[in-house]
This record gives sequence, structure tokens and C-alpha cells, in this order.
Amino acid sequence: MHEVSHPVVFGFGRQMKVTPYGVGAGRRLACGMVGLLVGACAMESVGPNSVREVTIGILSRERPQSVSVQCETLRVFAEGTTETPGTTLEVEADGDSVLFRPSRTARTASLIVTCAEPLTITSPAGGPRRYGRRLEIQARRSALSLRVAVPFEAYVASVADAELGELLSANREPRELRRAMRIVVRSYALAGLHRHADEGYDFCDLTHCMHFPGLMPGAEAGEAGPVLLNPRTEQVLPAYFHSTCGGTLAGPRSAWPEARDNDLYRSGPDGAGNCARSPHYRWRAEIETDDLLGVLPGVRSIQDIQLRRVQGRVSLIEVNDGRRTLRLSGMEFVSRAGRAWGWQRIKSNAFRMRRLSHERYLIEGRGLGHGVGLCQWGAARLAAEGATAEEIVRYYFPGADLVETRSP
Ligand SMILES: [Zn+2]
Ligand SMILES: [Zn+2]
Repeated sequence: MHEVSHPVVFGFGRQMKVTPYGVGAGRRLACGMVGLLVGACAMESVGPNSVREVTIGILSRERPQSVSVQCETLRVFAEGTTETPGTTLEVEADGDSVLFRPSRTARTASLIVTCAEPLTITSPAGGPRRYGRRLEIQARRSALSLRVAVPFEAYVASVADAELGELLSANREPRELRRAMRIVVRSYALAGLHRHADEGYDFCDLTHCMHFPGLMPGAEAGEAGPVLLNPRTEQVLPAYFHSTCGGTLAGPRSAWPEARDNDLYRSGPDGAGNCARSPHYRWRAEIETDDLLGVLPGVRSIQDIQLRRVQGRVSLIEVNDGRRTLRLSGMEFVSRAGRAWGWQRIKSNAFRMRRLSHERYLIEGRGLGHGVGLCQWGAARLAAEGATAEEIVRYYFPGADLVETRSP
């Protein structure tokens, strides 16, 4: 149990750190998929404990200098005192201090805000967005650092909806797609709980972890559900997902050479074009040679460029400029290209590259994302054709076990 009894002891992550995740002392689910499908395992399922709450570092890209926090009855804890400033609290960073109003203009190193309802936060760049019931604020170099405690299943439901985005509204019957995505998000989150332990929270709100734009409508009704388990380690599987595989799925080793358990993820064709209706199914980009050199560190010219592949995806790029050979992983190239040229040019690590002239290269690719795990556009088609959530995740993670979680 990681719930803390009093907000004042809600330190930056120390007390909130959740326990390592695994099946613990529980037995494995004996009845398998069939039982899960008919619900017969619910009573005897002894899968991993669910987590009650996670801490999210929010507005991590914006790093606002000020925010406005709203709630029916705010309670503010700072410097050992408690205040009830009403329904609105204005907070501002001043150096490494936090200033807050309106009850009084006060300066503190750290501020905790709680409310019986989800807090609403508005920043200069956007909002209002709804978050959890507890917020901790610090300041560093006149930028606010905000962490919210969010019920875990509300986080899972919000991320699943946010990551599916337009696919949900376009789907006439999104229930099973949404359930499948929640299984994947729940698993991915539980497998990566300590990603930001050094910063004192579980996840950031960016795609580095998963996109979390605040609580989505209905998310608070999210209930515990199944997770994917690595049958060899009995740990929760990092259930990767992506927008569009472009027709061919790959195991994690194609993107991250040190990755293990490649066989637990589907590789090869995604059905007969499950995601063929995605606008990202095929793409092409013409890139100036100078721009290409800009994302290849230390290379002065391109004498020779070789793309090495694992399961059809570019795992390694080798560039020789006559003096030395640069080796860059395919994912690092996609990431550098995204930062330099915008994320809509090089959409995936499944591409070919051809020199058009001395000045230009043509890059032709398939899909959006790394192609590992669940393909969202493919899953949407499977759901539209009547597949259940369980069938969808079994399809994309054929080597994983699917087990129920227990409520904490
Ligand atoms: Zn992150
Ligand atoms: Zn696909």
C-alpha cells in the first residue's frame, strides 16, 4: 500500500514510490484465455496486484511560470500550515520559490494542494485540464514543477483514450478497441513504474512515457482489468504499441538491440492489411543532403550509407564520409530527424533511402511508430470486425499470458 495518510508527508516521490510489480505470492491463472473470455476466472484469479495511485509529472514540456488551480474547496499545505483559500489559487514561480495567492501572498519552497474533487489546472499554454485530487508544486529557475497523484485506472483510461484519439471517434463501436488499449496501457504502465524515480514521480505526461492530457471524460469510472504477463519471468510485459505498423510488425529487438523476449510480440504481416486505411500506411520524404548531414553527428559528407535491418526495420545506419564510419541506431535516426524536421517527415523506422542527386535523398517508408506490439489502426479494424479486446491483445502479443489484476 503506498497511500499516504496526510498530505504534508507527501514528499517528492519518496512516500509515493510504489512497490515493485510482479505476481507476488499469487498462483498463475490456471484457466487461461477461455476462462477469461467467459469470466470464469474472476473469483480465483491471482494475478498481479493493481496499483491504486500513480504520480505524474505534468506540463513537463511547457514548464509554466504560473498556473491557476481551481476546485470547490481547496486546501493548501505549506511550511507546516494549512489554508483554505476558496475555489481558486494562483501559483507562480519566482526563482526556486513558489508564490501563491489569493489568501495571502506567500512564499514557500514546496506547496501541496488537495481537493475532494479532481483539481482543474489552467496554464498560460492551455487548459483548464482536470487532474487528480492532490498536487505538489515546486519551482526551479522560475519554472513550476508540478506532480499530481492520479488514481491508476483513471490514468490508464485517460491515456488509452488520448493515445487512440481520432480512432475512437471514427469507430462506431469503440468498446472493445478501448478495452484492448486499456489492457496494453495498463501493462505498459505497470512494467515501467519507476521510469522517473530519480525525479520523484512515476510518469511524465509526454510520449516519452505516454501522452496524458489530464483526466478524459468518464475516466474516473475506470476499473481494474487484465494485464499481459511475460510467462518466463511472470512480470508484467512492457506492452508496446504504436499508431500504424504499415503492414509488418516486428519484435522489440528491431528497435532496441538489447531488448529481450522478442517472441512474445507478433512479428510479420499484420493480417491482410489491417492498418491499410491509416493515413500513415505509406509515406515518402525528400530530404536535402545538407539536412541529412545535420542529423548525422560528426559526418562531413556521405560517401556511403548502409541501412541494416532486423525484421524489416532499420536497426542500424552506417554512414561513411571517407574518414570514419558513423553508426546510428534506426530509432535514434528517427528521433533526431523528428526533432530537426518535425515528427511528420520520417514517421517510422521501416524505410528505404535512395540518393536522387548530389543534393537530395528520397526516403520512402511504412507506418507511424516502431511497429512493435499493438498496431492501433490494425486493432481498430479488428474491433470493427467484431474481435473482443482479449482476442485483439492475444493477436498482437501471442506469447504473453493475459491475467486479471487484483484490486489493492
Ligand atoms: Zn517519461
Ligand atoms: Zn498494422
